[in-house]
Parts: sequence; structure tokens; C-alpha cells
Amino acid sequence: LLTYCLPALVAAMPLAQAATDAEIEQRIDALLGKMTQKEKIGQLALRDFGMYSGESLADIKQQIRDGEVGGFLNVNFSSAEGNAFADLQKLAVEESRNGIPLIFGQDVIHGYETIFPIPLGQAASWNPELIEQGARVAAEEATADGIRWTFAPMIDISHDPRWGRIAETLGEDPYLTSTLGVAMTRGFQTDDPTRTDAMAASAKHFVGYGAAEGGRDYNAAYIPEATLRDMYLPPFKANVDAGLMTVMSSYNTLNDIPATANDFALKTILRDEWGFDGFVVSDWNAVMEMIPHGYARDAKHAAELTANGGVDFEMHTDTFRKHLPELIKEGKFTEEKLNTAVRHMLRIKMRLGLWDNPYPRGNRDKIILSDDHLAAARDAARQSFVLLKNDNNLLPLTKKTKIALIGPLANVPHEQLGTWIYNGNKKDSHPLVPALKDYLGGDSQFTFVKGLDYSRDTSTKGFKDAVKAAKKADVIVYVGGEESILSGEGHSRGDIALPGAQQALVTALSETGKPLVTVIMAGRPIELGAIREQSDAIMMAWHPGTMAGPALVDVLYGDYSPVGRLPITWPKGEGQIPVYYNHMATGRPATDDNYTRIADIEIGVFQHVPGNSSNHLDYGHTPEYPFGYGLTYTNFDYSDLNVETAKVSMGGTVKASAVIKNTGKVAATEVVQLYVQDVVGSRTRPVRELKDFKRVTLAPGESKTVAFTLPTSQLAFHNRDMQLVTEPGKFNLWIAQDSASGLQGEFTVVDH
Ligand code: BGC
Repeated sequence: LLTYCLPALVAAMPLAQAATDAEIEQRIDALLGKMTQKEKIGQLALRDFGMYSGESLADIKQQIRDGEVGGFLNVNFSSAEGNAFADLQKLAVEESRNGIPLIFGQDVIHGYETIFPIPLGQAASWNPELIEQGARVAAEEATADGIRWTFAPMIDISHDPRWGRIAETLGEDPYLTSTLGVAMTRGFQTDDPTRTDAMAASAKHFVGYGAAEGGRDYNAAYIPEATLRDMYLPPFKANVDAGLMTVMSSYNTLNDIPATANDFALKTILRDEWGFDGFVVSDWNAVMEMIPHGYARDAKHAAELTANGGVDFEMHTDTFRKHLPELIKEGKFTEEKLNTAVRHMLRIKMRLGLWDNPYPRGNRDKIILSDDHLAAARDAARQSFVLLKNDNNLLPLTKKTKIALIGPLANVPHEQLGTWIYNGNKKDSHPLVPALKDYLGGDSQFTFVKGLDYSRDTSTKGFKDAVKAAKKADVIVYVGGEESILSGEGHSRGDIALPGAQQALVTALSETGKPLVTVIMAGRPIELGAIREQSDAIMMAWHPGTMAGPALVDVLYGDYSPVGRLPITWPKGEGQIPVYYNHMATGRPATDDNYTRIADIEIGVFQHVPGNSSNHLDYGHTPEYPFGYGLTYTNFDYSDLNVETAKVSMGGTVKASAVIKNTGKVAATEVVQLYVQDVVGSRTRPVRELKDFKRVTLAPGESKTVAFTLPTSQLAFHNRDMQLVTEPGKFNLWIAQDSASGLQGEFTVVDH
């Protein structure tokens, strides 16, 4: 009797807050021992209220009672009476045989109700603490409603701003994305995920989604294994090492195998090489999409491929529940594999402490949109802005400046929020016009004219009033760009210029001869075209979120000096894509006249020049703005590069420093960037790679020595045998303001 009862007793015991790994595994063993096959398979079902499946809420509720649902995604909080999460959870905890709590997941991507800048904007802050705080705020709000799992961070690397989902990424660089992605995960999960305000993070999309051919969403990705390992995988590996709880597989095919059933990615790399022990969730509907991909014959085959491929939790579709029993009978899937998948699920639910705290922690009115949260969102927004151009120090403006505020995005609470905002509400969103009124104490110093009704508006009928207002002002501030809907999932663009008649409007405004500030709100870098010359100042504001207006006032009027730096290369136009800073070199050095000067190469003048001659006749060699670029209201002077370690033994540490001086009149923060280039490798190596960065705030006239230490292990790459190696030899090093400039030195790694 005792042997029979013990597992049940252990399973029913409340999980102590700090359950050890061993205790958790014991509890899982006990639970597995008493679960039926049907109940086990039920744990692998992530449902969304029977959307499209024809099931009623009553059906789904019965499935919960029967232990056939593992969790829900994107349940509309207000769609059921009271708190939908609490109602459903009660059925699982109190009315199902095993009482296993459901896990509720949602796309809490850049805020819950307090919306922060889109991730690409947050990445422009180059500030891990800020990003951690943003995720913390989002988690505090979402957990108030009972959501303990988020589908973030999105850490896809992409080199293609046509791709609508670039807005959700943390940029193009594996090091920056790793650092910021880990910070975001930490913000969601905390060091103690049993906290009732902690959420499990889900790194996505595994893997290669950002390499969609042509930037067309969901498209095939072709990535050579070495590039996969050096460019696309590092952010995922860094998150796994940092305790990431869940991973989402992606929609795309990777080298012709759908990521949903890609056992090389999901098993060989994620589990065997990295030792990931959380659960893997498929993307929405992705299991069934393997049929149109031409990889699965039917739903049953899709279930077989997915379950064997390494996915544990099936999102939205219901093929596991319908077909795994039969597949097990036929020997095409095994009970052992089923137990492993269920173990992954239960492990994460236990690590979240869901048995102790299955219900929403409540108190939403105090938590959501609190003053602290709004202040954090405002800070995040102003740190995300990147000043691209500022001729004659047109910015910052003064309160005395009479401005004509023009443009389709200057006063649209909804459009400044950006993509993926389930809970963000325009009624809580603060646009520029009221913020300006607040700041200037009325509207005597500015006139607002939209000029265009929305970002894609092609009508020029509003131009006359706009130009009239511009003529009467000292300075024109144009706020345009893209509405939220122009980026995000399924919203790629072939033409990345300003949509609608915006270029024509800016041309009309610039013809007044008045100084022109252009503020761009968009989910991607925009082809600037004529606007670059027509504008005296240009600021990229991304989609800044709830506090866009106050944050813009802070920066436009100089109460806050811009600190943002581009997390992505800004192309001149879509014809230049892909263009990214850490590319491989051609055999042709970049020269103005674009021919190889053999003699120069022989005498060493052009050896190993970063950059290459793969130019376009019309675009030239360089992008519009390089990765890492951004101005502020002062200048920083870089001097005294000191590479302390001219020779570094393998396993040792490179040490380098430079002196950074604020030579201007206002305090500001500089993002000091460390780049290296492995000069000769057994595979060709990128012209530069970001290895570290430091933010340093300097008062006017102040200087500081900024020092970096870099273990040689961070110089490693995957060689032809896919081994991660640091090869001895010469390296160039830059301490720089961006990826296209800097003080250059060198060091040598020696084998002994
Ligand atoms: C997206 C994911 C998202 C999921 C759930 C999918 O369409 O690709 O990023 O997490 O939907 O909403």
C-alpha cells in the first residue's frame, strides 16, 4: 500500500519555494507514475480557446477537467466573466484528477499595458539594465493578471529591414543581441522564478527566422552551418547558459528542413550540445504548416515529425492529442519520448512554483500603468532615440523657438505603440502634441498641422496649411514614418522609403527654407532619400510606446541628451540589402576609384582594410549610417589607445584602453565600442566584430580612461570541422564610436 500511495503523496505535497532540482525531479517521477497516457499527452497541448478548431468553451473546459490541456496562449483576459485565467486554472487545479496547473503564455513583447519602445528601439539604448528593467515592469503587470510565461525575448538576427519582424529583434549583431537578450530574460524570470511576479521567458525563433529570403516573412532560410553557429546561434546559447526556461521553434525551413521538426537544431544543438532542460514550444500553427511546406503528408505525419523532432508543447494545433496515441501504438513515437517531453513541461511549471501559486496575484489596479512604470517607459523611450544628423546644432530646441509641428504621427496615440501590443491601449498613450503643450505651458509657441492624415496617405490636400504654418515658424518639426501596422509579423515591405506622400510633404516644407527637424517613428530603418539632405536634423524614434510624447519633449528640448546608437546598419535603400557591418571581406579593398591596386597590396598599404569593394555604382561602398552610430548634443574625443597586451597567450586576456573626453558644453553618455578583426583565419573572418561596449557618462570637459578586458576565448569561431576555436595570429582592434571608425591597434595571440 505504501509503495502504491507514496508517489501520489509526494505529488500532492506543496512545492517548497526553493525546491532543489532533485526534489523537482522526484516530484515529476511521482506525477509521471500516476498519469495516464492521455493525461501526459494533454500536458503537451497549448490551446487558444479553440480558435478556428470549432470547439466551444464548454468543450475546452471539459478537456481541462480531463487533464488534456497543458496551457493557454493569448487568452483574452476580459473575454470571460471575471478573470479568465483564474476560472480556467480552477478547473485544472481543483477539478482535474492530477491537479496540474495550467501555464498561461502571452506575447508580452515590449510591455503589457505600459508599452515600452519596440525591441529594436530598446536595443538602440545599448543598455542592458534598461532592458532588464523594461522586462521587469512588463512581468509585474502581466503576472498581476496571471500570465506567467512570455514569448520573448525575440533574438533572431536579421540583416534585412524589409522583414517586418526586424522591429521585434535586438538588432543585427550576435554579441549585442546576446547581451541584451540575456538582460531581457533576467528581467522576466528574475533569479527566483517562483516569485509570483516572475515569468518564464521564451527565446525565439529557433532558428534562422531572421534570414527569410528577400525579407519576405515565413520564407525559407539558407544558412551555412558555420554561419549558423557564429552568427545566429550565439544569442540562444547565451540565454540557455543564463537559465532560460523555454524556447520557441520557428516557422521557416532551415536548409530545407522545417524548424518545427528540425532535430539537428532542437536536439543535437539545443539539448545534446547545450544541455537545455526546459521545454520547447512550436510556433502558432507551425505544426500543420509543415503540410504546405511539403514536408508532412498529413496531420498525423506532422505530429510524428514534430514530436520526434524535439518540440514538447504544441501551440494552437491539436495534432499531438489526436495522433500521438496511435503513433505510439504503431511504434512511430515512444512512451519514453513522451515522458521526456512531459518532464520538460512539468519541470518548468514546477520551477515557476505554479503548484503553490496557480492563480493571478491580482492587485492590477495598483500595479498596471503605475507612475513608476510610466516613468520607466519614458526613460526607455528617450534612451532609444538615435540622433542621426544635427547640422549647426539645430537640436536641442529652446522654449523660445516658435515651431511648426507637422506630420501624420505627431499626435496618434495608437501608432506610436508599435507592433505586438495585446494589452496596450491608446487611451493610456501620450503623444507629442499634449506633451508639448504641457511642457511649453500652452500652445502659443507651436502650431500643429498634420499635413497628411496617416503615414500612407497620398493626398496632398493638407500641404497648403502645413507650409503656411511652416513659414510662420522658426523651426519645423516633422514627425512621420510608419504606422504600427507597417512592421511586425507578416508585414514586410519591398520599398522601405517613407510611405504615402511624406517625401513630397517634406520637400514642400524644406522649400520654405526654414530649419527642419525630422523625427522618424518606424519599425525599421527607412530609406531616407532626399530627406537626408532636406533635413537639418534627423532623429530615429522607432515606435517609442506609451510615453512617446514626454520622451520626445525631453530630448528635443535638451533636458536629456540622446544616447541611442544604431543596433543595425542603416541602408541607403532596399537595393543595398543585405548590408551589415560584420560581413566578410571581398578580395578587393575599398578604394575610391574601385580597382585593386596590386602594387599597394604588395607593399602592404591596402592589406586587411576593413570594408570591401563590393559596391553599387549608385550607392557606393558605405551604408547610410553604420552599425553603432549615433550623435548627441556634445562631442567625444577618443585618444591614447593603449593595447597593453601586444602578445597574448592562448587562454589569456587582451587588455586595451582609450581616453574618452567630452569636448562639448553638456553632459552626455557615450557608448564606447570594442571591435576586433581576426586578420587571417582557417575560414575567412568578418571585417570587424563587436566584442564589448561600455556606457560612460561625462560632464563637459571631463575625460575618462575606458578599459576593456577580453579573454581569448571570446575570439573563437567555428572552424571547418565545426569546432569552436581561437586561432593564434594577428588581430586588429578598435576602440570606437561606431563600427566604421575608431582608434585602431593590434595584438597577437600566441599558442604558448
Ligand atoms: C509568432 C510568434 C508568437 C506566436 C503567438 C506567432 O505567429 O510568430 O512570435 O509568439 O504567434 O502569438
